[in-house]
Amino acid sequence: MHVFERLSEYDYEKVVFCNDNESGLRAIIAIHDTTLGPALGGVRMLPYRTDEEALTDVLRLSRGMTYKAAISGVDLGGGKSVVIGDSRTSKNPAMLRALGRFIERMGGEYIAGQDIGTNSHDMAVIRGATKNVACVNESAGGAGDPSRTTAYGVSCGIRAVLKATTGSDSFAGRHIAIQGLGNVGFSVARFCHEAGAKLTVADIYEPAVVRAASEMAAEVVSTDEIYDVECDVFSPNSIGGVINDDTVPRLRCPAVAGGANNVLAEACHADALTARGITYGPDYLVNSGGLIRCQEEVFGRPTEDFTIYSKVTQIYDQTLQVIGLAEELGISTAAAADWMAEERIATTK
Ligand code: NAD
Repeated sequence: MHVFERLSEYDYEKVVFCNDNESGLRAIIAIHDTTLGPALGGVRMLPYRTDEEALTDVLRLSRGMTYKAAISGVDLGGGKSVVIGDSRTSKNPAMLRALGRFIERMGGEYIAGQDIGTNSHDMAVIRGATKNVACVNESAGGAGDPSRTTAYGVSCGIRAVLKATTGSDSFAGRHIAIQGLGNVGFSVARFCHEAGAKLTVADIYEPAVVRAASEMAAEVVSTDEIYDVECDVFSPNSIGGVINDDTVPRLRCPAVAGGANNVLAEACHADALTARGITYGPDYLVNSGGLIRCQEEVFGRPTEDFTIYSKVTQIYDQTLQVIGLAEELGISTAAAADWMAEERIATTK
């Protein structure tokens, strides 16, 4: 697997392989960088086909968290964990507690949160073994699922790309194409709709699109057709890698901004968007609202909507700043965001 080669490529600090035969836990915790603070990142549970696939995912995601925290001014480092297994059939409380014990032994250098395959109730179970966990459900005294805050931040990012491409940040009469109507995407749709936007939506989960059509008069298209919709902003809020060789030439919009992590299949696709004159709101900046909320929870500060939302609104200005820097330097917005994040880490060291 050449683990050390992989770690040295992007200077990862630590990887912990966790095994517990009794509960069936097989997990990997990766810490990319703790320059800015303890590493925070969600627990993702997926039926990875190989250990290598799980390692690749946890490394990529933990590094993404470092950049997300750095650019959004959050005093946390980048980490992530993956649990190998199907969350619908294999997840059990003993497994979550076992993971909690591994996290506890890390002495506070990694703080868990929810991600695909886990939820705020699972975080409450993990808290039975360690205090180093965020997103614990509200009835157990935590700040709960951060998805709505993430979605609010995504709406700020969409406003910023609208401003950059149309001169106005108003949603009124604008057309937003939304891919994915899960925890984040449905709320993004709601924010855009309530601000006056027309919506076209797609999701593999039929009930979600039916609900969006009935509650927000959204036009529904297939999961393939969503790339061809003529609109003001394409907003990816489902899986990663959807901006790729096949889809970039198909997009009929001046801007892309959404909540999905790792939305670019490869770094070169940021340049491909720029070459087509499409303004890209960098994923880890646009979707950093949930992390901003988690930071407040971790440091014991108020997490009520008003306080948090006023902080998350900064995503609007920061996205415009990144777009301005990219234009000035003649680089993609993704490269400009990376540069800003790396600068913050370098000046903190
Ligand atoms: P979710 O699982 O609730 O929603 C994902 C949705 O995408 C589901 O409705 C699913 O049916 C749909 N989907 C899957 N494949 C699809 C496809 N090919 N085409 C269209 N729809 C498809 O997840 P979520 O919490 O809403 O997260 C969405 C994205 O945002 C993920 O990439 C996640 O990593 C990222 N993100 C989430 C948060 C958060 O606070 N939840 C924070 C930052 C980033």
